[in-house]
Amino acid sequence: MDRTNSPPAAAMNEDIAGAAQVVLAGGLLDREAIDSVVLQSSSEHLWDLLYWANRIRIANFGNSIKVCSIVPGRLGGCSQDCRFCSQSARYKTSVEGSRVFSDEEILSAAAKAKQSGVGNLGIVYSGRAVDDDELERVERLVGQIRNDYGLEVCASLGTITADQAHRLARAGVSKYNHNLETSERHFGNVVGTHEYTDRVATIRAVRAAGLGICAGGIFGIGESDSDRVDMAIELRGLEADTVPMNFLHPIEGTPMGDFETMAPMEVLRVIAIYRFILPTTNLKVAGGRSLNLRDMQSWIFYAGATGILSGDYLTTAGRAVVADMQMLKDLGLEAQA
Ligand code: SF4
Repeated sequence: MDRTNSPPAAAMNEDIAGAAQVVLAGGLLDREAIDSVVLQSSSEHLWDLLYWANRIRIANFGNSIKVCSIVPGRLGGCSQDCRFCSQSARYKTSVEGSRVFSDEEILSAAAKAKQSGVGNLGIVYSGRAVDDDELERVERLVGQIRNDYGLEVCASLGTITADQAHRLARAGVSKYNHNLETSERHFGNVVGTHEYTDRVATIRAVRAAGLGICAGGIFGIGESDSDRVDMAIELRGLEADTVPMNFLHPIEGTPMGDFETMAPMEVLRVIAIYRFILPTTNLKVAGGRSLNLRDMQSWIFYAGATGILSGDYLTTAGRAVVADMQMLKDLGLEAQA
């Protein structure tokens, strides 16, 4: 075929390709290299970023995708003021008061997860912390779910002490979820009732107890690229095993209820930047997936994601597990049990 008149192929962006080669060789990017990738990842070079993020994902994870589901232990009525959250008692939203889910409801969620091929169930309590009775209940339920359904069980119970973290580890909890939400710099614009350092302390207690760390944050809450990078570097230092990436689902009644959702390509860009910074960490796309990505949901893996939260979220509807499993099959990816 005569290609004389074909337009020249666009060259790969050298900064992004160079950074990717460092990561593919097992290295970690320093702040300067990360900032350069972020700077170059504007619309023109976004495809390069995605291409290399996908290569990094495949090199470290192959075709394996981790699928988890969550069930509330307690929903709503929270004393804290996280400005994106409908569970805060300070905001008038569709979540009214506090509701404790029964053992039966939690075990039924476990049965459903098992049946649909999901390997991991997280029990999530709203609120700053849990009391001793609540912790005992979680310990008991974790044992029961592991024995009866063979699922990995994670917990998200707010701030915990070193002693509570050890108890959860002994009860068989795989990972403890506690998000940083955003950078230390931006945190005060999002949460006023507790400190960023409280969150870091809980994550350190989790690690010290030998529990896996599931810690990430939320995007689309007025943060800058620099805030996103700061959080990723902090999570790298804390040795997070899984980083849940939530994208704001604006909820009426919360202070962020009138925020705009993120553009789908911007969501993919954030995931890809995280894949460059955290090459071997499970990046789990969680809340706000359907709303922010619309038709682009299956692209998250090409951007470097290796995990999804499937089924309903805590206060918003998610996508049916069966649809997510079909998506993975169609992409030639394998759900990791
Ligand atoms: S994110 Fe957690 S701590 Fe913050 S308001 Fe919501 S339930 Fe409470």
